[in-house]
Amino acid sequence: SEVAMMMDVPVTKIISACMSLGMMVTMNQRLDAETLTIVADEFGYEVVFVTADIEESIVEVLDKPEDLVTRAPIVTVMGHVDHGKTSLLDYIRKENVIAGESGGITQHIGAYGVELENGQKISFLDTPGHEAFTAMRARGAQVTDIAIIVAAADDDIMPQTKEAIAHAQAAGVPIVFAINKIDKPTANPEKIKEGLAQMNLLVEDWGGKIQSHDISAKQGTGVKELLEKILLEAEILELKANPNKPAVGTVVEAYLDKGRGYVSTILVQAGTLRIGDYVLAGKNSGKIKAMQDERGREVLEAGPSTPVSILGLDGATQAGDKFSVFADEREAKQIATKRMQLQREQDVRTTKTLTLAEIGRRIALGTFKELNIILKGDVDGSVEALTDSFQKLSTEEIQVNILHKGVGAITESDVLLATASDAIIIGFNVRPVGNARVIADREEVDIRTYSIIYDAINDLKDAMEGMLSPEL
Ligand code: GDP
Repeated sequence: SEVAMMMDVPVTKIISACMSLGMMVTMNQRLDAETLTIVADEFGYEVVFVTADIEESIVEVLDKPEDLVTRAPIVTVMGHVDHGKTSLLDYIRKENVIAGESGGITQHIGAYGVELENGQKISFLDTPGHEAFTAMRARGAQVTDIAIIVAAADDDIMPQTKEAIAHAQAAGVPIVFAINKIDKPTANPEKIKEGLAQMNLLVEDWGGKIQSHDISAKQGTGVKELLEKILLEAEILELKANPNKPAVGTVVEAYLDKGRGYVSTILVQAGTLRIGDYVLAGKNSGKIKAMQDERGREVLEAGPSTPVSILGLDGATQAGDKFSVFADEREAKQIATKRMQLQREQDVRTTKTLTLAEIGRRIALGTFKELNIILKGDVDGSVEALTDSFQKLSTEEIQVNILHKGVGAITESDVLLATASDAIIIGFNVRPVGNARVIADREEVDIRTYSIIYDAINDLKDAMEGMLSPEL
């Protein structure tokens, strides 16, 4: 289907071209280089392989089941501003570490690991908020296993609480709710749970399956139990990795240190990273000269789910860049250079983010199954009315998903979610604010704003019927 889209021919024609070569293929199957070349030739196209030779050399070895061992969960904390995300991360950092090492985490390296009394470990990403979470996802990195969503019990479920929920759900990451500030006299945790129930999120106390715990991040009440619930969730997920292979993982933070050079904090996701390894990370490469953990201690190796800050890369990597270890330093360097060139070319070329006009084309090609929408409006009534109408547009072939809806302007976070989830944004009597427009233009996210409900519905309907005229 990708090839069909690139050549602008129906996918059925590609399938029959393959059949004439004696290959029975499905729409989602990947074709090998030779087949691609022959098929494209049939339609008068010549194939140029730009990325294949690069990415093919980074084949990850498939793990045998017996090589897999349990790894610690990687957790992100999200929630509305001032509801206590930082306080919770700080409390865990200060208190909940291996006995005798209390207060040992002195450095902010972007992620930290803690070990509970029973010896089980949890790794936390130290950049709270769904913006960081989704920015990573937009770059293709999925590191978070579980999301803690903090909601203050002396407040309501707020717009960013809803956003955080939508972002976690769009990523398919399970949520554990931390209902915070229960030390406050005005705290009413039941109200939050009721609010969640109204959003179809039933927590355990309310007969549902979603875990939640009442805590005070300030005093530490319930934090231990919250962490135990995280471990329970992790058990269900059966998180495993093979520690005995060259390391792969994701960059979580990077900066230039005047004295030490480029410092990157990375999270090893599989394999074991060692000093002296040749690493390729995004468009940078280098040999690891030194590694430190979050306590500022030198470490010689780092296994799955371990965050470490490393020295030795030749530039500033970006959060969300994937890294992998190479046997050969030259090869890592070559790929980094090629990626840099490709990036430059791609900056000039167009990207393939979804636009309303693109929807019609993809539907006509039969490659489209789900239409993701982020809906923002000026009042609750119009948002609900539009949600209803949009959902009614779903057909057997195309499912309309409202990934996130809310009252208020179109924000950066909406655009990020759209980028990460291939969605379009529809605004009703609201406009993009802050950097939202700039980022949307850069990422080519389609933002459509309307002031008449009928127009919004008709445009979407037309797009789904494949007859939308291009945007002027
Ligand atoms: P963030 O914006 O979500 O990271 O929230 P912060 O962690 O910065 O907390 C915002 C404010 O709420 C700060 O003044 C905290 O001291 C306060 N706060 C956080 N957790 C609690 C809590 O459990 N109880 C009380 N009373 N205050 C809290």
